[in-house]
Amino acid sequence: MPFYYRIRLNEYIGGALKEHDLVARKADWYAEKRIKLITGTRVIDADPEKQIVSTENEQQFAYDRLLLATGSHSYLPPIQGVDKQGVFTLRTISDARKIISFAETRERIVLVGGGLLGLETGNALLGKGKKVTVVEFFPRLLPRQLDTKGAARLMQIMEDRDFSFRLGTSVREIAGNRAVESVHLQRGEILPANMVIVSAGVRPNLEPAQRLGLATDKGIVVDSAFRTNRPEIFAAGDAAQFGDHLYGIWPAAMEQGRAAGTNMAGGGVIYEGSIPANKLKVAGIDLASAGEIDAENRFKSRTEETDTVYRKFVIDANHLIGCIMLGDTADFARTIRAINEQTDIAQIKLPNREQASRPGRK
Ligand SMILES: Cc1cc2nc3c(=O)[nH]c(=O)nc-3n(C[C@H](O)[C@H](O)[C@H](O)COP(=O)(O)OP(=O)(O)OC[C@H]3O[C@@H](n4cnc5c(N)ncnc54)[C@H](O)[C@@H]3O)c2cc1C
Repeated sequence: MPFYYRIRLNEYIGGALKEHDLVARKADWYAEKRIKLITGTRVIDADPEKQIVSTENEQQFAYDRLLLATGSHSYLPPIQGVDKQGVFTLRTISDARKIISFAETRERIVLVGGGLLGLETGNALLGKGKKVTVVEFFPRLLPRQLDTKGAARLMQIMEDRDFSFRLGTSVREIAGNRAVESVHLQRGEILPANMVIVSAGVRPNLEPAQRLGLATDKGIVVDSAFRTNRPEIFAAGDAAQFGDHLYGIWPAAMEQGRAAGTNMAGGGVIYEGSIPANKLKVAGIDLASAGEIDAENRFKSRTEETDTVYRKFVIDANHLIGCIMLGDTADFARTIRAINEQTDIAQIKLPNREQASRPGRK
């Protein structure tokens, strides 16, 4: 399948999209841009001295410049029983097809991981009449996107939609004869289940980079021009590590790909990092967050709280450095711009309610 919108796979699982709706670019787009697209094979070997890569179907391609945008794969933690029939992860269209087909005849589904992806997959399956329980190691949902107050509110909204949650615990064992029959939690509880979906984060695909002898750490190490330690080889997207950062999000991958491509063609784009920004893609729940969400209340913030809305704007000196928006995300794009451009807060409309930082901290 040609390049498709991975980020919409849950809409496909939920039945809101057909497979062909996921395809990002039609064949004419590649022709128009003079891009030769080769699908259905992998690069399995590379010779950095001869500047050649080889595919598993024995094709070879010479390059002057090479971009590694190999993305990442789902992390499968070493839980006992994780290899049983009925345990899935979601990264590709093929994973989504398997999940759809298996879920058809299954009722009780446990989602391991209460991050964005886990909640979106859970919501898609809930919409198909399944019983969904989310197990999250952290004591709150979306630990990277929400503080305690925001997470408690989101959990209430999701429980009202029939989600079940087990927070502050992890999975000790996935039990069953050959296929999944139950999920045993560290704190002793046993959840009956006939399907498990693990959403425990991603890891960069490093294999081609390692074959090329490139410097890798958590990801492929790049400089601010997206060059690896070999100046003719670049890396971008989920596979690339800039400073200490692995972004793992679509907008950062787009920004990096654009910059790397420009630089490979002789441009001089200097990257300074991306502000992490995320939206929960669940119909009827408006939730977005960006930058520093300050779950530990180290900074000053302004908050807005009503029955349906919780918004927090985190401030450092006179600048916005992050936000949480639950129930009203209308000005999310403008807020991200203010964070990126380090706009003085005097020029932004913010709620009046001020929350001081903790004494003795920043
Ligand atoms: C279900 C889902 C929902 C998501 N939702 C969001 C969201 O709402 N917002 C957001 O910001 N991010 C989201 N993400 C994350 C986002 O999809 C990634 O950050 C983004 O796709 C990264 O782009 P990339 O091009 O670096 O890698 P990828 O999209 O992973 O693409 C890498 C490609 O390289 C191919 N490849 C790897 N190795 C080889 C090889 N050796 N030879 C040939 N080809 C190879 C892979 O098959 C893959 O097609 C979501 C991810 C998933 C799975």
